[in-house]
Amino acid sequence: MAIATISPVTGELLMSFDELTPEELEDKLARAAAAAAAYRLTTAEERAAWVLQAAERLEEESDAVSRLITTEMGKTLHAAQDEVAKCVRGLRFYAAEAPKFLQNRPGDAHSVGAKETYVTYQPLGVILAVMPWNLPLWQAMRFAAPALMAGNVGLLKHASNVPQTALYLERLFRDAGFPDGVFQTLLISARRVEQVLRDKRVAAATLTGSEPAGRSVATIAGDEIKKVVLELGGSDPFIVMPSTSLERATDVAVKARCLNNGQSCINGKRFFVHADISEEFIEMFVAKMGALVLGDPMDAGTDVGPLATESGRSDVEGYVDDAVGKGATLLVGGKRPDRAGWFYPPTVLTDITPDMRLYHEEVFGPVAQVWTVASLEEALLIANGHPYGLGSNLWSEDDAERALFVRDVQSGMAFINGNTTSYPEIPFGGVKRSGYGRELADLGMREFMNAKTVWVGESADGAS
Ligand code: NAP
Repeated sequence: MAIATISPVTGELLMSFDELTPEELEDKLARAAAAAAAYRLTTAEERAAWVLQAAERLEEESDAVSRLITTEMGKTLHAAQDEVAKCVRGLRFYAAEAPKFLQNRPGDAHSVGAKETYVTYQPLGVILAVMPWNLPLWQAMRFAAPALMAGNVGLLKHASNVPQTALYLERLFRDAGFPDGVFQTLLISARRVEQVLRDKRVAAATLTGSEPAGRSVATIAGDEIKKVVLELGGSDPFIVMPSTSLERATDVAVKARCLNNGQSCINGKRFFVHADISEEFIEMFVAKMGALVLGDPMDAGTDVGPLATESGRSDVEGYVDDAVGKGATLLVGGKRPDRAGWFYPPTVLTDITPDMRLYHEEVFGPVAQVWTVASLEEALLIANGHPYGLGSNLWSEDDAERALFVRDVQSGMAFINGNTTSYPEIPFGGVKRSGYGRELADLGMREFMNAKTVWVGESADGAS
């Protein structure tokens, strides 16, 4: 894939970039390794000051950065502004909280015959981050903020269609005062990830993206015995029970499916609605999905912008056509508009069956599947039959239903009466084919740290 900014609104090539030459890549790796040796010796307070400086700058530059994100991948400007604000919040969170996460964890010295025992958290070194375009700033930031606070050094291989955002991130951290080489962007194609990951100077990797990319990186990391965190796809269930407010549940259902133009791993993608309320739910949901304004993402009145790439739109169309061809009922949308750019309308399908591709896969666009179910147990049975297990949603006022949902839903995150969202303060991640490991909060930061056990015996002369 060419490394270039191509407007999703017009299809026009706006800016293209040359890949790093082998010599330039070697220079970046050497600088990262040299930086890691010195950066691990900095104090948490020094690192927090740089992270706070990055937050200040990003806040000041928020307008231009939001516009850049919208230009490169087509999300609405207000969604891009929210994304930038979340990054500022994430940076400030780690600057404030990471020093606590880095404190030693004391153990029970007496039971292991020691004078003292504790776990101390130390950085691993150079970490490679392979990131997707859908939240081009936040996905990278939720790696970078904890990694840099931990004393690690970052190498970012961003998606090829967001090169300007990728370069902005490198500039942001450099201008915030981080030492040379602590955070670098690598403009390389996906096929060169293997070389970087196998390089002895690289300690570990994190990948957010599709299942095939995750499998490839995990295979190489396994071969090299290097730690890897995978944040992959999702087809999150959104379960609506009779005790909830339908007005609220349908409002959030629309948001859940169409946020980020329907291109988020944690979009609610499969809606399971109890039979007692399904007719009313479907009527309200379809009306609200159909009323969304599809248009230029820079316009304040636009609800849904174009999909990010031409191939992404073809994929979405392929899923819908396949389902309709096999008997799914199309209630709204389902037809690309007659205009330039990679637009696809909010779409609702019912009568989904296992022979349809979208039953088992992920549709990365504003296409909702609605099931009518007789019980929460039935909803969970179908929901858990999917290979992915990232987020999940329940709308219910019933304590027993909530407890059953938390116990039995196969997902890394369970949200009740609220939309699935990533917050710096709480862990994020999935199970099954959605990947492994966690991002954010203390757990995310510790993924790329050596939890070193220290055991100190009594001195030979008995002195303390
Ligand atoms: P993708 O094709 O997997 O791309 C993601 C990144 O991986 C890009 O930087 C890409 O580089 C690189 N890449 C692709 N193939 C690779 C390979 N074989 N080896 C190494 N690197 C490779 O993903 P996408 O389709 O752009 O993004 C959408 C997917 O990401 C969806 O499945 C979505 O659910 C998932 N996602 C998950 C999360 C989460 O937190 N769980 C968050 C956001 C998105 P190039 O651009 O150069 O190809």
